[in-house]
Amino acid sequence: MATTLEDLPIRDDLRGQSPYGAPQKHVRVQLNVNENTHPVPEDVAEDIVASIRQALTTVNRYPDREFTELRRSLAAYLNGELSTGEQLPSEQRLTPDQLWAANGSNEVLQQLLQAFGGPGRSVLGFPPTYSMHSILAAGTGTRWIPAQRDDEYRIAPETVVAAIREHQPDIVFLCGPNNPTGTPLDVDTIRAAYDATDGIVMVDEAYAEFMPEDAPSAITLLPGRPRLVVSRTMSKAFAFAGARVGYLAADPAVVDALRLVRLPYHLSALTQAAAIAALRHAPAMLAMVDDIKQQRDRMVAELAAMGYRTYETWSNFVLFGGVADPRAAFEALLEQDVIVRDLGIPNHLRVSAGTEEETTAFLDAMRRVAAVQP
Ligand code: PMP
Repeated sequence: MATTLEDLPIRDDLRGQSPYGAPQKHVRVQLNVNENTHPVPEDVAEDIVASIRQALTTVNRYPDREFTELRRSLAAYLNGELSTGEQLPSEQRLTPDQLWAANGSNEVLQQLLQAFGGPGRSVLGFPPTYSMHSILAAGTGTRWIPAQRDDEYRIAPETVVAAIREHQPDIVFLCGPNNPTGTPLDVDTIRAAYDATDGIVMVDEAYAEFMPEDAPSAITLLPGRPRLVVSRTMSKAFAFAGARVGYLAADPAVVDALRLVRLPYHLSALTQAAAIAALRHAPAMLAMVDDIKQQRDRMVAELAAMGYRTYETWSNFVLFGGVADPRAAFEALLEQDVIVRDLGIPNHLRVSAGTEEETTAFLDAMRRVAAVQP
């Protein structure tokens, strides 16, 4: 008989847990994990390859443990210095010592939990939210405390304050815009959470670039708030999911705390070179964001016209309800070469916005599903 996980002397608190589990299926229209479905432009890819080639000439040495140049580039990106758009006002400008990066924002969040969570400590979150938040809590031995959202998946300032008063967590995880619901997160809610706790408040802004242009990011709240942490990723808007680069902005003291738990040289020289090169081309890498937002809004409008329940979304995906049998609808879409996400929310499915063509393929497939399964 094959050995099962249950036969192993695994940690008691990991027994019975499930791994992160988006199905990895290769179908024509993949709209299940909120990627940017637009490939990296060819000329940008060539420049990235040239940078990686250069980095390979010294790959016999360990990489810069402090990824100094990457942190400089990330600060410049967040300050708006790499694009023609708006720049952060001078009092909100970030310095490289406020930036930290790792292999995806998942690793950044794990390091944060290693430093500020762990056995005997707790993290408060508001499901439905990004499933890795509770999985990372489990992996680091941090107790996960789920709290209730308000209607339409929103979190009012009073709601976050009441949950913090009740549970006294060491860390508060907020996600804005929230995955899987797309719900905007109000800066008033972040301010209220910060004032209600002595712990860390972490805002996961993986989808920040898809917010309306005039909506303030949690980054604007950083001055004077040394326990506030804002995580971002190059996986979504930046079309860089396969390269694994996530980062956070916080007080330099928070960055010092992460140095205590990171593995030495955790960001490879090749990753650093690729990310720096990609950031040099920020406008080209982000050129598709407007198009993705348009396709997202089109999905919302057309799904609503088909009779499904939609929600306000500030991200690159749409949660929709009113699906009689999500499992059957998921399978029916798969048969038409379209994959979406069934997150186990009763009567709901989530779909990422694709290119215009992919979005059309999804909507056409959905109309056929709706005809047999209203
Ligand atoms: N945060 C949220 C809210 C996400 O949806 C995701 C990816 N699905 C991540 C973080 C992790 O992204 P990555 O590790 O690729 O940076």
